[in-house]
Amino acid sequence: MARIAVYGKGGIGKSTISANLSAALALSGKKVLQIGCDPKHDSTRFLMHGRRQQTVLDYLRKTDPGDYRVSDILEVGFAGVGCVEAGGPKPGVGCAGRGIISTFELLDQFRLNERYEMTIYDVLGDVVCGGFAVPIRRDYADTILIVTSGEFMALYAANNILRGIKNYDGMASPRIAGLVFNRRNVEGEEERVRRFAKAVQLPVFTVVPRSDAFTESEKNNMTAMEQDACPEVTAVFRDMAERLCAGVPMYKACPLTDEELETTILGEARPAAAASGREAQRPAMQEEAEIPPETDLTSANRYRSKNLVPGAALQGCAFNGAIATIVQARDAAVIAHSPKSCVYITYQGISSSGRRTLFERGTLIPGSLAPNLVCSEMGEPEIVFGGLDELGDCVRRELGKKPGAVFVISSCPAGIIGDDISRMAELSTPDIPVIPIRTDGNMAGDFLQGTFMAFMEAARGLIDRNAKPRPYTVNILGEKATVTNTDANFRRISSYLSAIGISVNARYLCQESVGNIRNFCAAPLTLPAFGDFTATTLTSFFENEFGLKVLHRGFPVGYDETADWLRDVAAFFGREAEAEKLISEEEKIYRAELEPLIPVLKGKRLMVATYNFELDWILRPAIEAGMEIVKIGVFSYSQDVGFRTRLDVQLPVEEGYPYEQAARDVAELKPDILLTNYSSGEADIVPVADTIPMCPDTGFDAGIQMMKRWAGLLGLRNKGVWKKDEALFRQYYA
Ligand code: SF4
Repeated sequence: MARIAVYGKGGIGKSTISANLSAALALSGKKVLQIGCDPKHDSTRFLMHGRRQQTVLDYLRKTDPGDYRVSDILEVGFAGVGCVEAGGPKPGVGCAGRGIISTFELLDQFRLNERYEMTIYDVLGDVVCGGFAVPIRRDYADTILIVTSGEFMALYAANNILRGIKNYDGMASPRIAGLVFNRRNVEGEEERVRRFAKAVQLPVFTVVPRSDAFTESEKNNMTAMEQDACPEVTAVFRDMAERLCAGVPMYKACPLTDEELETTILGEARPAAAASGREAQRPAMQEEAEIPPETDLTSANRYRSKNLVPGAALQGCAFNGAIATIVQARDAAVIAHSPKSCVYITYQGISSSGRRTLFERGTLIPGSLAPNLVCSEMGEPEIVFGGLDELGDCVRRELGKKPGAVFVISSCPAGIIGDDISRMAELSTPDIPVIPIRTDGNMAGDFLQGTFMAFMEAARGLIDRNAKPRPYTVNILGEKATVTNTDANFRRISSYLSAIGISVNARYLCQESVGNIRNFCAAPLTLPAFGDFTATTLTSFFENEFGLKVLHRGFPVGYDETADWLRDVAAFFGREAEAEKLISEEEKIYRAELEPLIPVLKGKRLMVATYNFELDWILRPAIEAGMEIVKIGVFSYSQDVGFRTRLDVQLPVEEGYPYEQAARDVAELKPDILLTNYSSGEADIVPVADTIPMCPDTGFDAGIQMMKRWAGLLGLRNKGVWKKDEALFRQYYA
């Protein structure tokens, strides 16, 4: 499989040469793909007999990621050549370089290269930004041809391309096949091109004659290869195709300085630029097209945030989400390749739960308040000239501090200018991996998408798939760092596990060391902390990519859930007897705690207005205490599937509950206790209003603990007193 990038100055004839080369390769029996990377999107026009095709960028703009189909952007041209056009913004607006990056990301998803033996990239060669340099990246092009004429600006562009290649390749193996000399028949051109070739130490790979055959065939909306009217021309492309298929020697990029280029090579005044070529549009001709079967995009899109819906607001950015996730690893360094403001915004999110506990309880969550987060501090110079050098310095500084791993995460500005942070992986040492996570700010998606990317890239970069098994251990997956009861829930779960003889192998990623994360595969079973969309997505990732066994239920909340969860875990390890013993002990504690609440709560009317879809943990003890459930209003919530209960009683549930209905129901139903997610006006007119957490405490007694609070509040007959009494307020609400 060869991937050939054809570079050259705009208007130099790259598209003509690319299309004829593709045609020659296809006629020799190869399966060929041509990708036009010029915003003019006319690279494949003559292969397509003048027919214009939908560009990738237009397609991306109007298509939901879940609906991507390769057949929408891939057309079949002359001799079966697959044709793709990147497209780009109108001249003078937007960022065409970014367009190239987006195009290549989509083509990667389709794994289009893998379907063809030869890929030709037709690329605008005025390497003006990182975006246009994407096809130079080694993962795309293994062979580079540079098209030039003998005119100064063409040679100047060719020299610039060599600079771009040199920047990318460094000490890597050479991959330039040579110059393609496209004759313009101007005076002294041959000598200039030969001098340039000698100075940059490249062969002239091919000389393309100036011929009317090109003009004639293009008048008919064909390549010269298809028209086959001029043997001199077709022989050139056949020869190119044969040599490229057979394998050619490769050369390094040795660009000249501007002075060398002007004085040594040209040694004369600049000639005037040649007139531009033909552009006439031709009527379309229908081609019998054979589109290859659709790519299975399931794996590429399986781990997408469900909030990425066309037309919907973007909820945060992937950069924020990736950083908030990865800073949880205890001894990793995290480098944001971004301006300082992006890190400031991210830090506010990360530290919010820490600041809340600090203000409310005077305690710190150090990991949240002081994450090991460094910024490459992109400013205008880095935006204009690229920021990879500064980023590399940053990575080296962090490596010197000997962290467990270094993560590099890219922001919007880094993505827009095409800074390829994946190259930072080359700085990894034998002991410390450098793991790039290319979120490119919000270009990869929202906060949740960044969370997925961080979890997955860190797993791929760190976890040892051959870790020595540790029997009777479990992993914990996907705890939420921004929730204040995360540690308490972890301790509770650990104590249950310990009671049945199971210990925790590793947490992913919450407050875990890189060393333990590496050994993630050692545990026979993984326990997700939640059962929501995020957790099920991560579960599916670990099952598919690491073959891990995962329990398909989150940390349990409430008596029945906890008993069932324990039984499932115990059954996996053959510890059923230990689990039953623990459950019967917990049953006694549950009953003992419920008993004194009954006199206070019996007959009290409970109304719930909430986002939560699973409420058995509170409904069961409330019913057992003799409370009357007068209303359960469930607001719409995109992350879950619907109200669920296993209680064998009729419940007054209303799903899709409108907010404004709560006030009317409170007035009509007169509940003693209103349980809701928000403090609102209704709270003032019921005897007790309590908040229901989005992430409740885990364990057998989750509901009992909440009911204790209600009993305490109802016991304080004069609610006006407790609301004004700070000590009581702290006791019940802090
Ligand atoms: S959306 Fe882009 S610019 Fe804004 S904080 Fe995220 S990375 Fe920075």
